[in-house]
Amino acid sequence: MTVDLEVTAKERGIRYFLISFTDLFGVQRAKLVPASAIGGMAKAGAAFAGFATWLDMTPADPDVFAIPDPDSLIQLPWKPEVGWLAADPWMNGKPIGQAPRNVLKRQIAEAAAQGYEMKTGVECEFFLISVDGSEISDAADRQIKPCYDQQALMRRYDVIAEICDALQGLGWHPYQNDHEDANGQFEMNWQFDTALKTADRHAFFKYMVRSIAEMRGLRATFMPKPFVDLTGNGCHVHVSLWKGARNLFEDGAGELGLSALAYKFLGGIMHSADALAAVLNPTVNSYKRINAAPTLSGASWSPSSVTYTGNNRTHLIRIPEPDRFEIRLADGAANPYLLQAGILAAGLDGIVNERDPGKRLDINMYTEGHTVAAGRKLPLNLLDALRALEGSTVLGERLGALVPAYLKLKRQEWDAYARHLSPWEREHTLDC
Ligand SMILES: [Mg+2]
Repeated sequence: MTVDLEVTAKERGIRYFLISFTDLFGVQRAKLVPASAIGGMAKAGAAFAGFATWLDMTPADPDVFAIPDPDSLIQLPWKPEVGWLAADPWMNGKPIGQAPRNVLKRQIAEAAAQGYEMKTGVECEFFLISVDGSEISDAADRQIKPCYDQQALMRRYDVIAEICDALQGLGWHPYQNDHEDANGQFEMNWQFDTALKTADRHAFFKYMVRSIAEMRGLRATFMPKPFVDLTGNGCHVHVSLWKGARNLFEDGAGELGLSALAYKFLGGIMHSADALAAVLNPTVNSYKRINAAPTLSGASWSPSSVTYTGNNRTHLIRIPEPDRFEIRLADGAANPYLLQAGILAAGLDGIVNERDPGKRLDINMYTEGHTVAAGRKLPLNLLDALRALEGSTVLGERLGALVPAYLKLKRQEWDAYARHLSPWEREHTLDC
């Protein structure tokens, strides 16, 4: 049932609404609207100048109207008088084709037309660092293998518990929190849900973690590889397709308990993996996480090749249990909406075109990867990934207006990076 925002504001004591949309670079853009004005704004949307955001617009374009989705309402746990609303950007009376939440909704409609509903869970790793960003925030967090370090986890109990309490209050059903494999790194898990709900929660989670960290004099970062010798921030995604209450990926008679449908979906992810990297690994920095050398802890925990396996964390795709698989490619910079949209688009293509993922590889890819011919390498940098996306007819056709807009803006970003003169370059070239 759709929420009436005027009534809800009165009932729940909401004084302001944040009408928020996520642009192509994953930045959340918002207007803070007093509850007295939400009635009109809920229908017409809040107005924005599109060129001032990453939506691939010009200064001459008319207003973008961000129309809030009342069902996405989340009261800020740390300031309940403010209600956050995910919004869909419209222009000239139509949804903007390249706006990430619209892109995802289109893929969801496409799946629904074929009788499928994708459900996902995301594992958002993050670091707690110093406010200036130069180092981790806990000088005592120095173990070589810091994963699950009880002492370091509990030194951050106050901030982790505040976030977890918030997740419980919001009804997301959080079930575990831990110290991850890098010094200063944490992960908090909540229950999987439909793709749109997970995307909205993923977007809000990033905003919430940053906000609560800031209030405690810390800084949270989801940057894919903030420290070169430490494990990076992944965003592993667990995927299944459903029809009503039935998980269509489960099949007791199938290989590792997965259905033929699941393997086609998985085959679609493998088929488009290079192009998907442009979306799931969207920054220059992303490519220092995938393809990485072992970190101080002994492993990067990220993939380098397009391979799949059983319960083994050295491949692109892991099948941990007979009801889903885990895509280990995405990182903390992935746009929450485009992440889900990209996976769904590639997976649906796998079903329609019956993509065969080939044989499962049950080897340690970190030590034995060189011994197998199978498994092409992932793109080595953002430019290679953008070229793969440009060449992908699957994603080009399925993601529509997103792809040219995304390629244009990301190429600008790559060019800005390429013009940058790094200290490494000077050190290695001054005496050439
Ligand atoms: Mg993890």
